Amino acid sequence: LQPPSPTLSSMATASDLDTKKRVLCVGLVCLDIIKIVDSFPLEDTDQRCIDCLWRRGGNAANTASVLSLLGAPTEFLGTLAKGPYLQFLQTDCGQYGVSTDHCPLLENTASPVSVVILNSASGSRTILHTNTNLRELTFEDFQRVPLASGQYSWIHLEGRPNTGELQKIVLYVEDHNASCEESRPLMGHVDVVFISKEVAQSLRFTDCRSAVEALAADCKQGGTVICPWGDKGAAGKRKDGPVVVSPAFPPDVVMDTIGAGDTFNAAAIFALNTGKSLQDAVTFGCRVAGAKCGMMGNEGLR
Ligand code: ADP
Repeated sequence: LQPPSPTLSSMATASDLDTKKRVLCVGLVCLDIIKIVDSFPLEDTDQRCIDCLWRRGGNAANTASVLSLLGAPTEFLGTLAKGPYLQFLQTDCGQYGVSTDHCPLLENTASPVSVVILNSASGSRTILHTNTNLRELTFEDFQRVPLASGQYSWIHLEGRPNTGELQKIVLYVEDHNASCEESRPLMGHVDVVFISKEVAQSLRFTDCRSAVEALAADCKQGGTVICPWGDKGAAGKRKDGPVVVSPAFPPDVVMDTIGAGDTFNAAAIFALNTGKSLQDAVTFGCRVAGAKCGMMGNEGLR
């Protein structure tokens, strides 16, 4: 997990509908050190925890896990630091069937780490993220992905601070897709934009319906915006279409909301990538994310 990007939470460009082709998730992988507590700690106290877990985290890496669990061939692309956590992160990707074939391995750099306080009483997660010097992915790194091989059906880009590089990547993919759109801001170049609740709130929206209603105007012709909103569910809108909404599907007990948004994105991508309607994709996203909130981690989705 890491703090929300100030701009878009994620973007995706669909090229070719084929469930045997790879979904590529581009963004961050980090180590999550999760401290499970039965009550939120008070400052300057010494509290025992119920458990401490290591998990692979990062928005794009979490989304990749769930896409792979749902059965999509999946690849993660992001910078990896050589060091004590590399093997853990690579092995975990392998266990989820997520390829890391084209990730740049960087010397003299430290992997980002999130310490996450998971309150078992509420399922809430409080994130303390550190990234001292792992650099963002560059356009040059992205060019190692063999787009011309035709083995990718979907590219999902996490909106991170490398906006300039992302812009080059989006234009490059657009070029690859032989699109002839005129030049516009980033949102106007991709087919589907996911806006997280946190990013929508930073844009002063107070619910997902009004967020997609307004933000669809920035989409390209035929483009779509989707916005999940915690226990209120999610909404989506095609530029020229109606708003579609889904309620949340709350589990009996909310146990762990870490990566709920990433799970929603994965399930919605999975549905769209298999030809489902926007309404079905938004509903499926809420169903899978809701189920995820009722379990520790996401392996129970398998
Ligand atoms: P994040 O905080 O991880 O960015 P959200 O809180 O917006 O993500 O949640 C994403 C999706 O997860 C929601 O659209 C919803 O479907 C599901 N979800 C999150 N919290 C709950 C909850 N308490 N009960 C049921 N579903 C939830």
